[in-house]
Amino acid sequence: MRATVWHGKKDVRVDNVPDPQILNPRDAIVKISSTAICGSDLHLYNGFVPGMEKGDILGHEFMGEIVELGKAVTNLKIGDRVVIPFPIACGNCFFCHEKLYSVCENSNPNAALAEKMWGHSPSGIFGYSHMTGGYAGGQAEYARVPYADVGAFKIPNGMTDEQVLFLSDILPTGYMAAEACEIKPGSVVAVWGCGPVGQFAIQSAYLLGAEKVIGIDRFPERLRMAREKSKAITLDYEEVDVASALKELTGGRGPDACIDAVGMEAHGMGLLGAYDRVKQALAAETDRPVALRQALMACRNGGVVSIPGVYGGFLDKVPFGSVMNRSLTIKTGQTHVHRYMQPLLERIQRGEIDPSVVITHRLSLHDAAYGYDIFCNKQDDCIKIVLKP
Ligand SMILES: [Zn+2]
Ligand SMILES: [Zn+2]
Repeated sequence: MRATVWHGKKDVRVDNVPDPQILNPRDAIVKISSTAICGSDLHLYNGFVPGMEKGDILGHEFMGEIVELGKAVTNLKIGDRVVIPFPIACGNCFFCHEKLYSVCENSNPNAALAEKMWGHSPSGIFGYSHMTGGYAGGQAEYARVPYADVGAFKIPNGMTDEQVLFLSDILPTGYMAAEACEIKPGSVVAVWGCGPVGQFAIQSAYLLGAEKVIGIDRFPERLRMAREKSKAITLDYEEVDVASALKELTGGRGPDACIDAVGMEAHGMGLLGAYDRVKQALAAETDRPVALRQALMACRNGGVVSIPGVYGGFLDKVPFGSVMNRSLTIKTGQTHVHRYMQPLLERIQRGEIDPSVVITHRLSLHDAAYGYDIFCNKQDDCIKIVLKP
């Protein structure tokens, strides 16, 4: 089959690779109909994630048709159209029972690697380095889906791929970030980063009852989308002082909740030894670490700072005194996608949210390398790319 393969920093290619096969009784093989490139794939592309190996197949946002099933999967059949959540979860462990799917304790075969870095291991993730299992990803013609009976989410007839594809990651990720904000009538929420997750965080905050949502970014096309599609008030952080603008917009008090949808990509993907190298690499991205610090400093007393942005390791100069002395609550985590697929599908069906609005580019899988390039360099107003095998 054809698949998007990582060869090294800024080097992805669409190669011929062996077809995936059923390895375990709860596996399914999915013939992929649509897949997407995620902002977090850029961490791999830019070479910040340790545990990547030449030949790894990328992609954790994908959907398609079931073409093969392991013996133990009884709730799905050949031909079912399914969306696959990016975290791999067994459905049976303590954490899965608590609906904390992204920290499933059975799905990362390389748990020992992650334990060294983080103390404990999270779940496995498709196409996201050997730290989280080394699973082949879904920017390909086919993918093997472990624990398919728990993960593969069946899509009702009559819905297009573009309506449901983002149930795999970015829609639940934006939604969970907003849900963490404990929004009440009258709440003001500020969102750092108006990429796809930021857009869905803004839209979800409104769905959950926020009165005013403020989107912060510097790319004009993202700010425009935040205003026009997501109905945010926008701040360009290259033009205004964010801290004082937020005070002005909230009568001096600060937003009730702040969402960091930027992350600190370079920080933390590293094993400890990679730390200095990673910091050097960050020099080109000096705005990134600023987002979390700004969010912590800007949030009103007693407010919530919700962090869907990806962090990997050890952060410098985080104003923890501000968190403690001002009674802030920090909420974060890789998204427990399985929890949100059904309720968000229903919101899509009711027309409350249209995930396809973030798509700016539709490319053939063959053009994946070009897609990574323009997405990484924010060329051609690229916000979100869908690939068609
Ligand atoms: Zn993603
Ligand atoms: Zn589990």
